[in-house]
Amino acid sequence: MYQAFLIKYAEIGIKGKNRNMFENALVRQIERSLRDCEGTFAVTKEFGRIYVEAESEYDYEETIEALQRVFGIAGICPVRIHEDMDPDSLRQATADFVREVYPEGKERTFKIFARRSNKAYPKDSMELNYDLGEAVLQNCPWMKVDVHNPDVVITVEVRQRIYIYSETIPGPGGMPVGSNGSAMLLLSGGIDSPVAGYMVAKRGVQIDAVYFHAPPYTSERAKQKVIDLAKLVSRYAGQIRLHIVNFTDIQLAIYEKCPHEELTIIMRRYMMRIAEDLARQDGSLALITGESIGQVASQTVQSLLCTNAVCTLPVFRPLIGFDKQEIVDVSTKIGTYETSILPYEDCCTIFVAKHPVTHPILSVVERCEKKLDGVIEDLYRTALDTVETVIVGEV
Ligand code: ATP
Ligand code: MG
Repeated sequence: MYQAFLIKYAEIGIKGKNRNMFENALVRQIERSLRDCEGTFAVTKEFGRIYVEAESEYDYEETIEALQRVFGIAGICPVRIHEDMDPDSLRQATADFVREVYPEGKERTFKIFARRSNKAYPKDSMELNYDLGEAVLQNCPWMKVDVHNPDVVITVEVRQRIYIYSETIPGPGGMPVGSNGSAMLLLSGGIDSPVAGYMVAKRGVQIDAVYFHAPPYTSERAKQKVIDLAKLVSRYAGQIRLHIVNFTDIQLAIYEKCPHEELTIIMRRYMMRIAEDLARQDGSLALITGESIGQVASQTVQSLLCTNAVCTLPVFRPLIGFDKQEIVDVSTKIGTYETSILPYEDCCTIFVAKHPVTHPILSVVERCEKKLDGVIEDLYRTALDTVETVIVGEV
């Protein structure tokens, strides 16, 4: 039915050098996403556009779904390629296309939008509009012309070959991953952080991730769940280096030395510090969390102030103004929800106080943290030295 897809992208401000970078990143991401699909494809940049051409049999639905996961794609037009440059053969091909895509049984209005960029072709764009419109009317009597407000526009582009298309399937929008630096995602097994990673990747940011686990308090299954979530996010975000930090000894030290109502906030501050060190090692320029104002005690504005105080990199919190249901909706749409709700323990829930402070005061938190002086330094270094790194969505 279709031999190729024309990829439409629409982001303002991609001019000159940026445009090239944007397009190259988009081509790379399209190739990555199609790699897991049946069939082989050639992805080419021509005349400031991107074409995906099938080089073998392929599965249409699967291919569209893969392209719909590539950020930067605004629309996907399935294209029929016609090789014969004879005008009569093009009349026939255009009528056949309309008959197959808009079969008899439903009346529709249409117009032909022809563009001839190959000047060797004997008819110009105006002549083609007229000629091909006539061919459709003759062959498909259920179609009527309406040049002002047609139901369908049949585009016919005459280049070295002829491209015929009419439909635009929406893409995910955003910008291609790799066009906007990289950031370190604090990825837990919950619902929020995978969504946060998805949203930042959608702006073209390449993602690395860090997970804090606390064996034996958290299980291998809990860790595997996070690896699985990273894989699901990588379907959109591309390759992710997931760093797994053994956080047990740090948590135990905090539990032993610090007032229990400050536990969560101090633990969160250590997560941010370690994430920032790993970010610097990876060349990441920012941190990402799944925090949302007021969702839990550790996400009040005062708590956010206290956790943020240990960071010097910018912290992206794309869900900050989202309600839980809005986050669940995105999570369902991107396919992480089912995995996120698997009931495995989380290191944050194991060492929680009965009455955590909801309005921590930075100076008090810092004073409590002082109690860790002399023990935490070694534990911190060991945590960094024993990081295990798993690469998911490898290219
Ligand atoms: P999530 O659904 O993302 O787990 P949450 O609602 O459970 O979020 P918190 O437990 O307060 O909220 O965590 C806030 C954020 O801190 C998370 O969104 C995540 O970015 C980070 N985080 C929490 N626990 C971990 C962990 N074990 N490893 C890595 N990051 C974590
Ligand atoms: Mg959580």
